Amino acid sequence: MRPITTSVFELFKIGPGPSSSHTIGPMLAAREFVDQAGQLPPAVLDQVRAVEVRLFGSLAATGRGHGTVRAVLAGLLGHRPESCPPDILDSMAGFEAGTVRLGGRDVPISEATVVFDLFDLPDRHPNTIRFSLKGESGDILLEREAYSVGGGFIEWKDDVPAERPAPAHPFSTMAELLDVIDSTGLSLPEVMLDNEAALTGLTRQEIGAKLEHVMRVMEDSVERGLEAEGPLPGPLGLHRKAHALFERYRQDPQMQDRPILALCACAFAAAEENASGHTIVTAPTAGASGVLPAVLYVTKNLRPTAGVFRKVLREALLASAVVGMLAKHNASVSGAEVGCQGEVGVASAMAAAFLAQVYGHPAWVIENAAETALEHHLGLTCDPVQGYVQIPCIERNAMGAVKAFAAYQIAAAEVPGHHMVGLDQAMKAMAETGRDMCAKYRETAQGGLAAIVRC
Ligand code: SF4
Repeated sequence: MRPITTSVFELFKIGPGPSSSHTIGPMLAAREFVDQAGQLPPAVLDQVRAVEVRLFGSLAATGRGHGTVRAVLAGLLGHRPESCPPDILDSMAGFEAGTVRLGGRDVPISEATVVFDLFDLPDRHPNTIRFSLKGESGDILLEREAYSVGGGFIEWKDDVPAERPAPAHPFSTMAELLDVIDSTGLSLPEVMLDNEAALTGLTRQEIGAKLEHVMRVMEDSVERGLEAEGPLPGPLGLHRKAHALFERYRQDPQMQDRPILALCACAFAAAEENASGHTIVTAPTAGASGVLPAVLYVTKNLRPTAGVFRKVLREALLASAVVGMLAKHNASVSGAEVGCQGEVGVASAMAAAFLAQVYGHPAWVIENAAETALEHHLGLTCDPVQGYVQIPCIERNAMGAVKAFAAYQIAAAEVPGHHMVGLDQAMKAMAETGRDMCAKYRETAQGGLAAIVRC
C-alpha cells in the first residue's frame, strides 16, 4: 500500500465552520476554480458572462444548513479558509450581488450563482461540486468537477495529484508504524516530526511553531465559546449551552463529577463556535472540531496536570494527528461517506491517542486508546436535523470527548498483549460499515433524528 503523505497541517486545517466538507472544502475549491479560470486565454475570458456552481449529493441535501453557499461565494471572491474573517461569511447571508474578477472582466455573482441539484445523483463522490463558466448564450467555456472528500480536502476530476516527497519513515497502517518505531527506536512523535520535515521541508522549529498556532486556535475556539451566550444561527432556535455548563463547573468546586462537566462545557464551546461559522481547527473535521480541543483545554488548563509542558502537548498533538491520517488514508473522515463514525468517532480516537501520549505511554497504549474510542463509535450515523451542524452534532462532540477519556483509562490499565482488536481492524470495520450504511444516514438529513425531529 502507498505510504501516507498527508501533512499534519493538512489534517489540522484552520477555517470557518460548520462543516469541513461543506464549507472549508467548497471554499477552497471555489478559490482554486477562479485561479484555474484565470489561466484561460484572454480571448476565452472575454466571452465569460456568468459563473455557475452546482452542488450535488450531500452538498445539495444539506448545503443550506451547512453554510455552503456563503463559503462558495467567499471562495469565488478570493478568500481562503484559513484567512477568511468570519464577518465576511456573515455578510454573505442574503448576498444579492457582487463580481468576481476574471481576466480583465468583472463577472456578476450572487446567491443564485449556487444551484442545489437534488435530482442528478453524483456518480463519483457524494460531495460533488461542478463549476462552469458560461458565455453569452449559455455555452460552456470551462467546466470542472471537484469532490469535497472530507476534512476540507479537495480532489479535482481528471487531475493526477502532484507527486509528493517521500516521508522519512514510510508507513500506511498502524501495524507498519509500530514496526517503524520498533526498528528505529524512535518515539511516535519523533517519527511524525521526521516525516513532516521530509514532506514539507519545514524545520523542527517551524513545525513546532505551527503546532503551537494550531493549539492556540483550538483554545481560542473553546474560550470564545465559553463566553458566548444566546441562540445559534439557523431556524432550529437552539440556544448555546457551553457558558451555563461552565458556570456550574466554576460555582461548585465540591462537585464530584467536575472533570466531566468541564469536558462537556469545553466540547460544547468549540462545537457551538463551529455551528456559528466561526474559526475552528478541523480535527479531523469541522463537525467534530469540539472533541480534541476540549480534551486539550481540560488537560492543559483545568486538570491537576495543568501546566503540562508545551513540548509534551505538541507531541500529543502529533500522536492524535497520526490517528486522523490513518483514518483518512484507510477509511474516511467524511460523514457523507461513512457517517459520523468517521467524524466524531475518529475525533474521539484522536483525543484518546492525545491523552495516552500526554501521560507518557508507549505506542501500543496509544494505539489501544485510539482503537477503544473508535470501536465504540462504529455504526454511528450522520443525521443532522434540518441539515444544521447542531443537533445531534454539538452534544455528540461532548460525548466523543468523554469517551476519549474513558478509552484512554481503559487502555492505560491494560496488560500488554491482552487487547484483542487492532486500530487497523477497527478502521477497516468503519470503512465497511460506512459502505453498507444506507445513504440517508450519510449526511443527507433524510434519516434518523433528521427525519423524526421537527423543530
Ligand atoms: S452528525 Fe456527525 S458527521 Fe453528521 S454533521 Fe453532525 S458532526 Fe458531522
